[in-house]
Amino acid sequence: MKSKKELSFENLLDEVIHKDLCNKCGGCVSFCSANGISALEMGEDGFPRYADKDKCLEGGICYLICPQTVSLEEELKNKFNWKYPIGNWIDVFSARSTDNEVLNVATDGGVVTSLLTYLLESKIIDGAIVSKRVGVCGREPIIAKSRADLIQAAGSSFAETEHLDELGNIYSSCFPVIKIIKEATSKVTKKLALVGTPCQIRAIRKMQVLNIIPADMVIFTIGLFCLQCFTLNDLEKKDFIKKLNINIDDIRKVNIKDKLILNMKSGINIHIPLEEIEKIARPACIACTDFANDFADISVGGIGSDEGFTTVLIRNSLGRQIYSEAMYQGYIENKYYPCPNGRKTREEELAYIIKDYAIRKKIRAEKKLDSLKK
Ligand SMILES: Cc1cc2nc3c(=O)[nH]c(=O)nc-3n(C[C@H](O)[C@H](O)[C@H](O)COP(=O)(O)OP(=O)(O)OC[C@H]3O[C@@H](n4cnc5c(N)ncnc54)[C@H](O)[C@@H]3O)c2cc1C
Ligand code: SF4
Ligand code: SF4
Repeated sequence: MKSKKELSFENLLDEVIHKDLCNKCGGCVSFCSANGISALEMGEDGFPRYADKDKCLEGGICYLICPQTVSLEEELKNKFNWKYPIGNWIDVFSARSTDNEVLNVATDGGVVTSLLTYLLESKIIDGAIVSKRVGVCGREPIIAKSRADLIQAAGSSFAETEHLDELGNIYSSCFPVIKIIKEATSKVTKKLALVGTPCQIRAIRKMQVLNIIPADMVIFTIGLFCLQCFTLNDLEKKDFIKKLNINIDDIRKVNIKDKLILNMKSGINIHIPLEEIEKIARPACIACTDFANDFADISVGGIGSDEGFTTVLIRNSLGRQIYSEAMYQGYIENKYYPCPNGRKTREEELAYIIKDYAIRKKIRAEKKLDSLKK
């Protein structure tokens, strides 16, 4: 393996971007812009590229923090006490928001939106990096500062959003000079929560392992379970939408459980098998090994829970503390299981389902990565 000094964005181009393994998380660009280097930018196609090659310091950090490289994997696993197959976890629940407005727009039980609302209203964070809806399919990253902002961002988009690029943007406007990284870090007062797919959370965690900005601003992470990204336009291209005889504009919400669920404005739900969705997944997603968002403070998804509930995996003491406080303050509620042994059995069942998806995703990734070696 090359030493850290010999690595640069050129290596990301060779090993990740040109091999179609870049997931467009924006991590490399966020580091570069947050530190005022500005050698990189996100191109119109959503992939990172050189903005000004001469400005590149060739320090290799962008390579190390990229979630699609194996760099820092061992450090991450040690830091977060990782265990096969879904990382460290201490509790699992089915839960939902107590706010009807949130429930109405959320993907599942609105736990993400209500947890973030609690964090903002309790002034534990100054903002949350989420992605605002733009039409049915589109999203753009924003820093939510109020319940209203969060409600605008609730629901899921299964297309990639360059969340971390946004983090780099706000940071660079505060501390544009790399020479003052250390000083800047100690002066930072902004505290952010980040909602993200496993690749996005992984990039931030790698930055935190290296103790570099902009990751120091992120004090709490909510990780979404993730099988893959895709766009409704991809579905349309593959004729799924035509065969179903529906119009994209008539889709109210999109969700993934054991099937892709299109919730139509008319109230009906259309179910599409995940194997069909796999056909339109990006190569980067097929090569991705992380389903359960192994390095988040709390991971969430829809699988395993009843309609209208979010499956919540609490991973560490910070996650437990914030979740318990939000529940105590009445922002969220757990699903109640009446029989005395019901909760334990339910916990085992939920954990089993999450592990099963995680293992299936890892096997899929291994096959893809093996095929790239040939
Ligand atoms: C790309 C993707 C794939 C997923 N795959 C699965 C899966 O296979 N199985 C499963 O059980 N769950 C999956 N989920 C998670 C699930 O869809 C819900 O987001 C989760 O259950 C939380 O529901 P909620 O009602 O509590 O969240 P909400 O209260 O609706 O909040 C959702 C939050 O996610 C943010 N968000 C939406 N889209 C994105 C995005 N593309 N990137 C980053 N943040 C985003 C929103 O801004 C919002 O803050 C996936 C989510 C995404 C975005
Ligand atoms: S850090 Fe993210 S955006 Fe940059 S090359 Fe890696 S996967 Fe792509
Ligand atoms: S499958 Fe992996 S690479 Fe694709 S969006 Fe999800 S976490 Fe990112």
